[in-house]
Amino acid sequence: MNNYDVVIIGYGPCGISCGIYLKRYGFNPVIIGKDLGALEKAHMIENLYGAEKLSGSELAKKGIAQAKEFDIPVITDEVLDIEMDDDMEFNVSCKNDTYHGKAIMLALGKSRNKFYLAKDFEGKGVSYCATCDGFFYRKKKVGLIGNGLFMAHELDVLAKMIPDITVFTNGLKLEVEIPEGVKLNTSKIKEFYGNEKLEGVILDDDSKVEIDGMFIALGSQSGFSLASHLGIELNETDIVVDKDFMTNINGVFAGGDVIGGLLQVSKAISDGAIAATSISKYLKK
Ligand SMILES: Cc1cc2nc3c(=O)[nH]c(=O)nc-3n(C[C@H](O)[C@H](O)[C@H](O)COP(=O)(O)OP(=O)(O)OC[C@H]3O[C@@H](n4cnc5c(N)ncnc54)[C@H](O)[C@@H]3O)c2cc1C
Repeated sequence: MNNYDVVIIGYGPCGISCGIYLKRYGFNPVIIGKDLGALEKAHMIENLYGAEKLSGSELAKKGIAQAKEFDIPVITDEVLDIEMDDDMEFNVSCKNDTYHGKAIMLALGKSRNKFYLAKDFEGKGVSYCATCDGFFYRKKKVGLIGNGLFMAHELDVLAKMIPDITVFTNGLKLEVEIPEGVKLNTSKIKEFYGNEKLEGVILDDDSKVEIDGMFIALGSQSGFSLASHLGIELNETDIVVDKDFMTNINGVFAGGDVIGGLLQVSKAISDGAIAATSISKYLKK
């Protein structure tokens, strides 16, 4: 068993920030992630205070390197289960190993499932983040692929700035209501077309729908099954935390995209720092 003060799950901006603050507070955290999270899909980050313009993957790798400079172990593995033991501490089971922590930080992000037909147009009309890119399509015609709560969240963001939106369920049943004025298309999408940029999609019956941009909001939130197994309170889309970023389970904290709100790097970093401060108080009790 690998013993640490805190097991942080997720090495995106929230998990890394939490780890660095905990280390500075004199604790011994480990950070476990399975991939680079949302940043892996971010073509370019331009809105982060003081940071040079760089791709999401580059930013994520810089964060991981920084944590390692603080001598924090950063492990690539997939967490499969978390269990509380008799001492109210936690065992985190991963594919390759098990970790023990007095407290847990869930910085799991939100899973944005890839839509492989769209891969040639990522950053050229296809986006996985309404908050980040919606602004660029203000007076344009956009599509949004998805059928559930995550789609509804992104639609809410887009509808505030874009008048012409079509929701494409891609053959799936619509599981949420969409507001009046938003168009619905339930056909399967066969192809994305365009030259330099996305111009539209071709449906199963070979008809074309012209659009300037397509947002993808498939699937649900990562970590929901992990969290629900532990008995953590969830609302429809997010893990619920109190003002100290603690969940309803003593010793389990959460922050970043997984608790909802503004889905941006700056907020994830801030959540990680504040949660670390709360965890430090919790561990000193
Ligand atoms: C296309 C796109 C463009 C974006 N552009 C911008 C932008 O320009 N500016 C901006 O500020 N933000 C942008 N964002 C949003 C930003 O990337 C996120 O808000 C931020 O990364 C959230 O940080 P996080 O640490 O909460 O989660 P993430 O960065 O998503 O990290 C989640 C971590 O949890 C890990 N994880 C999840 N489940 C498990 C498991 N079972 N086991 C182990 N590890 C697990 C993942 O591997 C990952 O390491 C963009 C997002 C997307 C998708």
